[in-house]
Amino acid sequence: MEFKLLVDYHTHTGFSPDSDADMLEICNAAEKAGILQLAITDHVEIPAFIQDGYDKTIDESYKQAGEMQAAFRGRIEVLKGIELGEPIHDLNTAEQLLKNYDFDFVLGSLHNLKDDRDFYHYDFTSVDIRSLMDRYFAEQLEMVKWGKFNSLAHLTYPFRYIPKGRYPEDYGYWRDVIDEILRLLAVKGIALEINTSGLRQALGKTMPDEFLIRRFRELGGEMVTVGSDAHKPCDVGKNIRDGINIAYSAGFRYIATFKNGHPKMVPIL
Ligand SMILES: [Zn+2]
Ligand SMILES: [Zn+2]
Repeated sequence: MEFKLLVDYHTHTGFSPDSDADMLEICNAAEKAGILQLAITDHVEIPAFIQDGYDKTIDESYKQAGEMQAAFRGRIEVLKGIELGEPIHDLNTAEQLLKNYDFDFVLGSLHNLKDDRDFYHYDFTSVDIRSLMDRYFAEQLEMVKWGKFNSLAHLTYPFRYIPKGRYPEDYGYWRDVIDEILRLLAVKGIALEINTSGLRQALGKTMPDEFLIRRFRELGGEMVTVGSDAHKPCDVGKNIRDGINIAYSAGFRYIATFKNGHPKMVPIL
């Protein structure tokens, strides 16, 4: 299929603690991959235990994304974004941060639960997956109720790390709460991200997967964004076509794009 617009709405640069990529190289890689809109979404985590506000590295990311926006004008559209992690762990700080910048695009994400570590660091051999994921989906729901972001990043993120076979593939116990999350996203006009990074990792599918993306559509969802979650230039734009294909086969005919926090729906074909 030939798509109207290839976009990557989730990328990191050296201003994220887990990337050492140069922003210029990320933009060049996007252009090479045929991406026409690129959102720079460096991490800012809002853990409750930090007392002096948020990580100010975002200042540099924001400034440089603005420079890239000017430098690439007419070639690719660079958007000033952020991946805002765990905003509900300290709402005042999160809201202050959002007030301090004019982001084009805000991803809301959850990498760890309250007073807990990133799922990346868990030892799942001794963990009760059901109760852990009960907490995860409850916090996701709380985050969507707050709702001050444009797209919900990588729903089902912990499954990137939980060994397969330790949970029902159809999300059995969590279906009701997932429905509630998806329904609320639709009502509030928040997009659901199709994060394609799982396709290049052991998980082997997008986050969330096609099953839940289709469910979002059934529950009235209209807006999806697509992002590679690249942390290095070679991953920029990776599997974006697959992500858009999944959106299409799940019933979506538009991809959501953002500027100054305002959505614009672009036909897929
Ligand atoms: Zn993330
Ligand atoms: Zn990310």
